[in-house]
Amino acid sequence: MEHKRCGSQASVQGPAAWFTGRVRIDPIHLQAQEPSRVTAGLVTFEPGARTNWHTHPLGQLLIVTSGKGWTQCEHGERVEVNAGDSIWCPPGHKHWHGATDATAMSHIAITEMLGGKAVDWLEPVSEAQYLAI
Ligand code: MN
Repeated sequence: MEHKRCGSQASVQGPAAWFTGRVRIDPIHLQAQEPSRVTAGLVTFEPGARTNWHTHPLGQLLIVTSGKGWTQCEHGERVEVNAGDSIWCPPGHKHWHGATDATAMSHIAITEMLGGKAVDWLEPVSEAQYLAI
């Protein structure tokens, strides 16, 4: 067993190349231990913060742990998510997730890697896309 104690992995700021606004990532065994391909992190979005549009080669499970957020699939409606909700993003499905414009949101993201990659990053979510109902 590999026991990582709280505080043993530093929080990191979500890179501006992948996120809009202030995002903090707290790693949870961020690196997959082969042959497992699973990677996980606790991601906290300040109000207004969100991911870029992106896809996951093998999909992604999100578990909202606090606050209220928004997520949207390409060509779909923006959906409100709340603490306790879980969301499955299918492989190759273009989407984004983040806080609402007024409320912070944290989720645990559990993602399987394919060829060492868990996500393919795309363009930022524009303010018009983010605020569209
Ligand atoms: Mn995702």
